[in-house]
Amino acid sequence: MSVFKNIIGGQQADGQSVYRNINPSNTNDTVGEYAQGSKADALAAIGAAKAAFAGWSQSGVQQRHEALKKIGDEIIARKDELGRLLSREEGKTLPEGVGEVVRAGQIFQFFAGEALRLAGEKLPSVRAGLDVEITREPLGVVGLITPWNFPIAIPAWKIAPALCYGNTVVFKPAEFVPGSAWALSDIISRAGLPDGVFNLVMGRGSTVGAAFIESKDVAAISFTGSVNTGRSIAAQCIAAQPMKKIQLEMGGKNPLVVLNDADLKTAVECAVNGAFFSTGQRCTASSRLIVTKGIYKEFVAALTERLKGLVVDDALKDGTHIGPVVDQSQLDQDTDYIEVGRKEGAKLAFGGELLRRSNPGFYLSPALFTECSNEMRISREEIFGPVASVIPADNYEDALRLANDTEFGLSAGICTTSLKYSSHFKRHAEAGMVMVNVPTAGVDYHVPFGGRKASSYGPREQGAYAKEFHTTVKTAYTLAQ
Ligand code: NAD
Repeated sequence: MSVFKNIIGGQQADGQSVYRNINPSNTNDTVGEYAQGSKADALAAIGAAKAAFAGWSQSGVQQRHEALKKIGDEIIARKDELGRLLSREEGKTLPEGVGEVVRAGQIFQFFAGEALRLAGEKLPSVRAGLDVEITREPLGVVGLITPWNFPIAIPAWKIAPALCYGNTVVFKPAEFVPGSAWALSDIISRAGLPDGVFNLVMGRGSTVGAAFIESKDVAAISFTGSVNTGRSIAAQCIAAQPMKKIQLEMGGKNPLVVLNDADLKTAVECAVNGAFFSTGQRCTASSRLIVTKGIYKEFVAALTERLKGLVVDDALKDGTHIGPVVDQSQLDQDTDYIEVGRKEGAKLAFGGELLRRSNPGFYLSPALFTECSNEMRISREEIFGPVASVIPADNYEDALRLANDTEFGLSAGICTTSLKYSSHFKRHAEAGMVMVNVPTAGVDYHVPFGGRKASSYGPREQGAYAKEFHTTVKTAYTLAQ
C-alpha cells in the first residue's frame, strides 16, 4: 500500500512515521496509510508558506477566484467518490458523507465569489483637505487545525476564506481522518496556486499543531476541536511574542426545548436528527431535550418508538440511519457516560447497547435517558456520541432557564407553534445560533457560524463574516491635492 504524503511547498513529502486509517464500520478494512509529519516538517511547511506570502497577498482577485472555483467544482464533480471515502473513514452514513462533500464544494464556490467582492471604504476626513480609506489586508501565514467529525467541511470553511483573502496556509487535519483531508489537499494543490500557498502537514496535535502555535512566522490560528485543547491553544497564542490572532470553535451541550404546543412529529424529527444523526458526533448536536410537562410523556413515547425504527449499521450500507462511533476511545467515552447516567439516577429509556454487525466495528444503539436533571453530568458535559438526556420543565420560562444553564452556547432550538414563545426564545437564548422548529444541527454556508461562552472565541466563521478573522483592517489618510 503506498503512503499518502504531506504536501509542502508544492512537493509531496514523507513524514516521520505512518498512520493506518481504519474504517470504523469494519476494523479489518484499512482506508489507507498516511504520512505523519514531524516538527521539522511543520517548520518546512511554515517556511514555504512564508516565502509564498509576498506573491499571493498581492495576487489578483481573478486568479484567486479561478483557483477557488476550480477547487469547488472538482469537489462537487467527485462528490460520490469523496463522500464514500469520508463515510468509510469517519463512519457517518453515505448520504451524510456525500452531503458534507457537496457542502465543502459550495463553500469554495462561495469564496470564489467573495474574492470578487473585496470592498473597502472611502470617507471624507473630519479634518479639511484629507481623505480616509479603509481597506482589508491578509494576515500572513495562517495555521488551520481541524477535528475529525467534519473531515472535509471544516477544513473547507477555514481554507477557502484564508486563500480568498490572500493568506497562505499551513493545514493540520485530525489524526483519525487524514483521507478526506488528503483528497481535498490534492485537489487544492492542482488548482493553479503558486507553490507554498497551501501546505498540508498530517500528524499529531502535540507535534505538528504545537509547531504551528510556537512559530513566530504563523500570524494566526483557526482551531476547531475540544474545549480543553482550545483553551490551551488560546493561552499559548496570547502569550506568544508577537501575539497571534485566534479563532476557536469548541464544544457544545445544545438544548432543544419542546413546548406543550409543539407539533409532535416536528419535535420528534428535530430530536432524532439533532441528537442522533451523524452518530451524535456534532458540536451542534441536541444532547439536552428540555420538554415541558404537558407533552413530556407523549414526546418520550413517540421518540422511543421512532428510535426503535432506526438502523445502526455499516456507514456505507443502503438503509443505515446511524453509522458507527468513530473509534474505540470515543466509544469508551460514550459507554462510560452511559454508566455515569445510570449511576446518577437517570432512566435509560432506550438503547445504549453495544451492537454486533456482520463486520467488526464500533456500533452503539442511540441512548435516550429520561427523568434527567440539568445538574447531572450527562446533562452538563459534552459526550460527543449518540446519547441524549430528556429534562422535564414546568413551563416555557423554566425551559428557557434550563436551556441557558450551561457553560456552552453554540446552538439552541425550540419546537413550538407559538409566535410569542419562538420570538422570545430567539431573543433570549444564550447561543450563537437559534433554531425554531428545525434541528439544532444543520446550518447554511453563506451566514455566520459560531457560538458564545465556552463554545467559541474570536470572530465567526463562514459567509462574508469570515473576513473578520482572515483579514486585518488598515486606515489610510491622504492629503488631497
Ligand atoms: P481535539 O481538541 O482533540 O482535536 C482537534 C484538533 O486539535 C486535532 O487536529 C488535534 O490533533 C489538534 N490538537 C490536539 N492537541 C493539540 C495541541 N496541543 N496543539 C495543537 N493542536 C492540537 O478535538 P476532536 O476530538 O478532534 O474533536 C471533537 C471536538 O471538536 C468536540 O469537542 C466538538 O464539539 C468540537 N467541534 C466543534 C465544532 C464547532 O464548530 N464549534 C465543530 C466540530 C467539532
